Amino acid sequence: MVTTTETKMRVYKFGNKLADGNSTMKNLLGGKGANLAEMSALGIPVPPGFTITTEVCTEYNELGREATISLIKEEVEQSIRHIENILGGTFGDNENPLLISVRSGARVSMPGMMDTVLNLGLNDEAVLGLAAKTNNERFAWDSYRRFIQMYGGVVMGMKPKTKEDIDPFEEIIEHLKEKRHIELDTDFTIQDLQDLVYDFKDVIRKRTGLEFPTDPWEQLWGSVMAVFDSWNGDRAVYYRNMHSYPADWGTAVNVQAMVYGNMGEDSGTGVCFTRDAATGENVFNGEYLINAQGEDVVAGVRTPQQITLKGSKLWAELAQVEEADRAENYPSLEEIMPEIFKELYDYQETLEDHYRDMQDMEFTIQQGKLWILQTRNGKRTGAAMVKIAVDLLKEGSIDDKEALMRIEPNKLDELLHPVFDPSGLDSDEIVAQGLPASPGAATGQIVFFADEADKFKNTILTRIETSPEDLEGMNIAKGILTARGGMTSHAAVVARGMGKCCVSGAGALKIDYKNRLMKVGDKEFHEGDWISINGTTGNIIEGKVPTMEPELSGEFAEIMALSDKYSVLEIRTNADTPKDARVARNFGARGIGLARTEHMFFEGERIKTMREMILADTIKGRKFALRELLPMQREDFEAIFEAMKGLPVTIRLLDPPLHEFVPHQLATQKELAEDLHISLASVKSKVAELQEFNPMLGHRGCRLGNTYPEITEMQATAIIEAALNLKEKGIISRPEIMIPLIGTVSEFVEQAKVINATAEKIFRKRKDRIEYLIGTMIEVPRAVVVADKIAEHADFFSFGTNDLTQMAYGYSRDDAGKFMKIYMEKGILKNDPFEILDQEGVGQLVRLGIEKGKKSKPELKIGICGEHGGEPSSVAFFHKSKMNYVSCSPYRVPIARVAAAQAAIADSSME
Ligand code: PEP
Ligand code: MG
Repeated sequence: MVTTTETKMRVYKFGNKLADGNSTMKNLLGGKGANLAEMSALGIPVPPGFTITTEVCTEYNELGREATISLIKEEVEQSIRHIENILGGTFGDNENPLLISVRSGARVSMPGMMDTVLNLGLNDEAVLGLAAKTNNERFAWDSYRRFIQMYGGVVMGMKPKTKEDIDPFEEIIEHLKEKRHIELDTDFTIQDLQDLVYDFKDVIRKRTGLEFPTDPWEQLWGSVMAVFDSWNGDRAVYYRNMHSYPADWGTAVNVQAMVYGNMGEDSGTGVCFTRDAATGENVFNGEYLINAQGEDVVAGVRTPQQITLKGSKLWAELAQVEEADRAENYPSLEEIMPEIFKELYDYQETLEDHYRDMQDMEFTIQQGKLWILQTRNGKRTGAAMVKIAVDLLKEGSIDDKEALMRIEPNKLDELLHPVFDPSGLDSDEIVAQGLPASPGAATGQIVFFADEADKFKNTILTRIETSPEDLEGMNIAKGILTARGGMTSHAAVVARGMGKCCVSGAGALKIDYKNRLMKVGDKEFHEGDWISINGTTGNIIEGKVPTMEPELSGEFAEIMALSDKYSVLEIRTNADTPKDARVARNFGARGIGLARTEHMFFEGERIKTMREMILADTIKGRKFALRELLPMQREDFEAIFEAMKGLPVTIRLLDPPLHEFVPHQLATQKELAEDLHISLASVKSKVAELQEFNPMLGHRGCRLGNTYPEITEMQATAIIEAALNLKEKGIISRPEIMIPLIGTVSEFVEQAKVINATAEKIFRKRKDRIEYLIGTMIEVPRAVVVADKIAEHADFFSFGTNDLTQMAYGYSRDDAGKFMKIYMEKGILKNDPFEILDQEGVGQLVRLGIEKGKKSKPELKIGICGEHGGEPSSVAFFHKSKMNYVSCSPYRVPIARVAAAQAAIADSSME
């Protein structure tokens, strides 16, 4: 069989404004290789070099070292000559040695996961040539000792295998520093560096039984193969598995001429950005150091200087450095190397125009010559992301679809919640880490009980977990911190709904309610101690960190308007109060997709009446209490309808197990007994009676309304009367009454009958009517299977993907936190399915439900109100499933709007 293997190109050259490859060839050349080729072809001065393709990595894994070398030897030799021709040195020459770097480069960036060898080509003779050529003996010997150290570690297997192992080279360095009473590497003399070279080679010989190779070609092949091997190293395999990158992708190897920023006062190195990565402002900025290597800029030993004069003056102002001092000791690159600055400025413009996005670039100046080492799309804050996308749109670099696609929806969150003031973050001490359950930042004094949330001005409600009883306290506290519970735990869901910062499931916290004490390791926190929590990162920080309110800029509104232009899905919100409803409307919600009525019963005195209703032994007693609750509910609904001004409002009938409403603490039980004029014993026995083994699958949802139809009657009355009352005032309401946890058709039909009969009775009495819909949650797997039959009776479906996930997997929502983390660490689950919809399983149930429902009622309105309604990848799935709307907590509305638009754009570009 004839194959093309023998003729295909395995090595791609770049340099001197030419390149064999380009940026579209990431799969073959890796991200880094493809970008170096692209830059070179653009005329950007990248150190010349070549890329050995990812396919060779795969061949190497099959054929081994020798066969691979013979496959690429000729091309590599030619490519080395290509570098020599451009730069003038010779690889392997002792007088004028060409030194090279060997780096990995997979198709996606895998930072720090694979290996690199620098300064390759040095040996005992070449080091002397380098010293003579550069007239810098110290630099030559320092480069040599670094090379041996890297080569020994990466190629000769001297790297420590575990955290406890000591790096033999570092050990030698430390030893010498002690002996010489010095602290920094820069304090080594030339003699010290020569001693290090000797000792390094000695330790290699002793450990491996091998000599350090002096032949540069042997050094090169060793390094190339070591980089290929690092694709299968522990770190890389772990990272690949985590991101599901297939093993057969392989890594490319980039071989490039070395350039040095530490060759004297005419050399330097730096990092720059084409725009401000924090604010998005269109200003070129960055930092550099003279006579330094790349790592010196980030290491913080020397103070990096600003590239632009404007940046330098701004820096001096903040650092309180006098102008004379600044100009003398910390001048900008623009001032001291104006020509180089101008060249760099032009390249950054070229690169940003070319990539049509903000670039993060690395450069080196070697003896007055500028080299660009790397460019990539720069990381940025949420605010910068929005501003840059809108600015690029206005500048005409990108169109509006592209601007929208540039938004990472989840990053919008940063713009919506209070944030830590970055200037106050220095002295933080992170004491533990929890789940970033609800974004934002909060600082306050610790309280352990919800009813004490107002004990101090700013409090962090710190609980093992929260329950509906804690609602009011959660509302008062600045932030919520729990030791248990996952992303859909009570604390997390409620906090997100409130837009309140929450860190949940921080297992390291040991909370002792009795002593009002929290222990984290050996640290103790008492009630009243200050703590700060970051709901965006999950960090728990000791002490105070100042926060500030975010500003919603004009660009934010522009992105929102663009989203609406493209999205097909309607975005609604999950809101239980007029305040939440208003917040969500301001964020652009087009209706309420879920109002959980149970939350209304916890406010103020209402809980007492609610408890009275639950504890009643007779229908009569229950009805009496319900009559008292009716006006309160009616008022709630009026306020919510009014806030939504004619937009649809889906109200769900009572859903949670009743025992959640009764008091479990002795003091509150006593109080209740007194209020109701009954004995403490009977309160206790009723509480015990309501206790269930598995409340999530117990007496909840429509089972409540079906066993106590008077509750449904009261709620339906409140809804219909509220709408009629508003109608009298000229305000339109569009109630959609939703029955929870339906599993059978008759469960639905029975409840619908009660609602319709109640409504008709009121219409007759008031001699007026309003339009209303009756629909159901689809959240029990059986309801999916019989969805066609349910749809014959229901006006709409709203998928409750929280419960549907719980029941599809059989994972309790309240207990999943215990194993979820381990499941994800082991790769048994890729994501927490309560957070990101499991499209393969639960998603197929959703699709089946939609298909069946629409088959019997094509006009059936379909939405989703589980937590997935605000998660971008799930929103895309719901778009593809042709739902009418998604409903999410108010603070996720903007995220869902962008995600819906992106899904529609992606969909239209597929056609
Ligand atoms: C659901 O189950 O997805 C839902 C929205 O209802 P809840 O979270 O209140 O059970
Ligand atoms: Mg539910």
